[in-house]
Parts: sequence; C-alpha cells; structure tokens
Amino acid sequence: MSDPRLTLMAVHAHPDDEATGTGGVLAKAAAEGIRTVLVTCTDGRCGDAPDGAKPGEPGHDPLAVAAFRRTELDASCAVLGVDHLELLDYADSGMVGWATNDAPGSFWSTPVEQGAARLAELIEHYRPDVVVTYDANGFYGHPDHIQAHRITMAAVAATGTAAKVYWTTVPRSGMAEFGRLAREQGLIPADAPELAEMPDFGVPDDEITTWVDVGEYAERKRAAMAAHASQSDSAIFLQLPPEVFSTVMGTETFLRVHDATGAALPEDDLFAGLR
Ligand SMILES: [Zn+2]
Repeated sequence: MSDPRLTLMAVHAHPDDEATGTGGVLAKAAAEGIRTVLVTCTDGRCGDAPDGAKPGEPGHDPLAVAAFRRTELDASCAVLGVDHLELLDYADSGMVGWATNDAPGSFWSTPVEQGAARLAELIEHYRPDVVVTYDANGFYGHPDHIQAHRITMAAVAATGTAAKVYWTTVPRSGMAEFGRLAREQGLIPADAPELAEMPDFGVPDDEITTWVDVGEYAERKRAAMAAHASQSDSAIFLQLPPEVFSTVMGTETFLRVHDATGAALPEDDLFAGLR
C-alpha cells in the first residue's frame, strides 16, 4: 500500500547523527504530518562505552556498545517523532585510519554498490519525496559519513524517484558564531583556533540554498541529542544554556543538489514546491 503523505528520508551514518544534523527538520516534519524515515547505516560500535571507555580500552565491548546505542537511538527517534527507523547494521568503521576501517562487515569496506542496493530497496519501499544525507566529505571526513553519502547518491540516482535531495551543511558565519558563544560560555579555550577557519568545515553563507527555521523544535532536538548521553561528541552543545542552544541549533541549513520541483532558491522549507 502506498502512503499518500509526503515523506522525508534522512540517511545517517551512526546513532546520534540524526539528532545533531537533522533533529530539527525531522521533528518539524513529524509535527506537520509528514512521514519521516530514518536510515542509520552503522551500529555505532566504535563509539564511547556508557562509562566513557573508548574503543580498545578496557571496558569497551563493541557489541555491548552497539546494543546500548540502539536503545539511545530508539529514544531519540521517539523524541523526534520518527515514523520508521531502518538499520543497515553495518559495523561502525571508526575514525579515519583506525584498523576497524577494514574489519569484515565494516561500512567503509562494503562496496558502494552493495550498500546502495539495500538503500535503493528502502527508497522503492518508502518513495521519499525528500532525501537528506551528507556532502562528499561526510561533513567532517568520517569514513562512515563519506560512505553514507556515496550509497545515498548512488541509490537516489538508481531509483530516480526523490523530488529533492539535500546535503547537510553549516554556514561559515554559524561556525564563527558558535565559536564565539562557546568561548563566551567557557566551553572551549579562548585560544582555540577560529572554527570558521577550519578547512572543509561548512560553506560560505551565499552557497547555502536552504535555511530551515527549527527554533520551535530546539527543545526536541536538544532532548534527542541528550538521548545519546553515552556519547561525548555532543556534550559541548548540551552544556550550552537553552537560549544559546536555540541560537546555535535553531536553524538547519542544507545544500539542495537535486530538484524536480522548480522551487525558487534560497528556500526555507525542504518541502517547498511539494505542498
Ligand atoms: Zn557519525
């Protein structure tokens, strides 16, 4: 049976990426009656253990970490109103250069065609109008994010049904603003390098095609990020006072890389031209 509702599909690498990168648009879409599908490609086994142990350290059992992170992912999806969670369940490849990159079953060592074929089946099944994933650098160079980008672009090309395809990004101005606020709050050292000058991080503001105001959903986004409490990555954001969090996380920005609707740019809605 086909579902007549509009559908948003977000393809992410790890449990927790859905909250940080697209928590606002997922919560907003759910509130607007749009069907939301989250595809999480890996099991997150290379993340932190609940007690903080890192991979390879005593107390870090990769399969136990994956199982624990699954419960966090379910909680995050409940907060964001995700209708369907699909797990590709590849092994988390870890950071660039780690031995786990090449471990059997790792997402990074999986041929793109194989991952793309599985994702294409999900696209055929859910027929998303809008698909969101990372840019070619996986936003910050994580192998699994790059692989998620690759399988998504291959799958949307093979299926050809999504009306709009987006890559998550951040504006350079936002990075600078975040750096200023985090320094002001004492969360990063005053002499830390300017975030805006970090290479390959974000794009110039005028290249951003899509600015979505998700301020109304900042609390949900924060709660979804907090659901992944075992991971230290988002801790810096959660330490921000709520009003500062809303400033930093209240707008989600994207690069529109495929469009069959003709909606004018810049736009403020992933579904512009579709409703
Ligand atoms: Zn990730």
